[in-house]
Amino acid sequence: MRAVQIVKWQSDPEIREVPEPEAGPGQVVIKVGAAGACHSDLHVLYDYPEGAVPYELPFTLGHENAGWVHQLGAGVQGFEVGQPVAVYGPWGCGRCRMCSAGVEIYCEDPANAFVPSGGGGLGMNGGYAPYMLVPDARFLIPLPDGLEPVQAAPLTDAALTPYHAVKRSLPKLVAGSNTVVIGVGGLGHLGVQILKALSSTNVIAVDVKDNALELARSSGADVTIRSGDDAAEQVRDATGGRGADLVLDFVAAEQTLALAQKSVRLLGDLTIVGAGHGTIPVGFYTQPYEVSIQSVCWGSRPELAEVFQLALRGQVKPEVTTFALDDVLDAYRQMQDGTLKGRAVIVPNEG
Ligand code: NAD
Ligand code: ZN
Ligand code: ZN
Repeated sequence: MRAVQIVKWQSDPEIREVPEPEAGPGQVVIKVGAAGACHSDLHVLYDYPEGAVPYELPFTLGHENAGWVHQLGAGVQGFEVGQPVAVYGPWGCGRCRMCSAGVEIYCEDPANAFVPSGGGGLGMNGGYAPYMLVPDARFLIPLPDGLEPVQAAPLTDAALTPYHAVKRSLPKLVAGSNTVVIGVGGLGHLGVQILKALSSTNVIAVDVKDNALELARSSGADVTIRSGDDAAEQVRDATGGRGADLVLDFVAAEQTLALAQKSVRLLGDLTIVGAGHGTIPVGFYTQPYEVSIQSVCWGSRPELAEVFQLALRGQVKPEVTTFALDDVLDAYRQMQDGTLKGRAVIVPNEG
């Protein structure tokens, strides 16, 4: 079968002929229905020199996956061939305190994880191929009726990650509160929808491009601001001079982190979701009192079940553009040049 693989650090991916996977004991092969294209693919492909990330090459990209059970390995129970499923993305050891709580991305025993800080498409073969090996049936979540793979795939990261980020700040998102969302792409537009679904906070969205600001409005943002020199002032105006109770930075460039720090209010949360390489100085005088600054990574299995329920109710609905397997580079290019709206989703078994 053909698969889109990373074969060399800081290089374009390649479409290569690879063997179809076989399910060993406890494992499952899925027929990939959809694999979301995350901006993290671009960081993985181009940002890191050899040795910086604990992944062995080559592997097939695509870490937001959904499809149908294709082959069940010996001993796997509770699934049927043809059943629609989504894949919980991070694959830890399954036994430590974090994995037991369903937070496999923060596995405390990385030496015994399938891959440290990764999963299918991040260190192991992912969904940019017609078939994908899921190395333990515990990573499969049955898709509820009404949720198609093309919608479900982005839920496993593009929605799960902002869901986790929003949920930890929920007690602050009371009536009269304000939340700034910086970067309204794949994650950001779902972040806006999740904020509106879970809370009464006023959502102020910031982006550099028109189609993202449009998407922010159609996703429920109350105010949109173009990213630029006066963005912090506009945020101050939009929050009655107080600043935002929560700032979610889905970019994490130097400029957006500086905006985040200027926008956050007393007692607020500044949460870094984007994997950009920007930094900001932090000290006694650099932000209002009792601001909490944190970075977050992905989300838990119970949170993914919650995200599916919001999607079934229509409260979270990814804006999706589909691409064939051969067009992965086009999807990446559109993500980079700003023409993509929402999430690109690869459909490897089309046609
Ligand atoms: P995306 O390309 O779909 O969206 C990024 C958005 O940010 C775009 O709309 C872009 O126009 C906007 N943007 C770029 N520069 C900006 C600026 N200076 N000011 C305002 N807006 C700006 O990307 P995505 O797939 O949504 O991912 C966003 C980031 O989150 C990436 O860095 C990705 O690697 C990271 N990510 C992190 C996690 C995690 O667990 N922490 C999970 C998934 C993705
Ligand atoms: Zn991702
Ligand atoms: Zn673990």
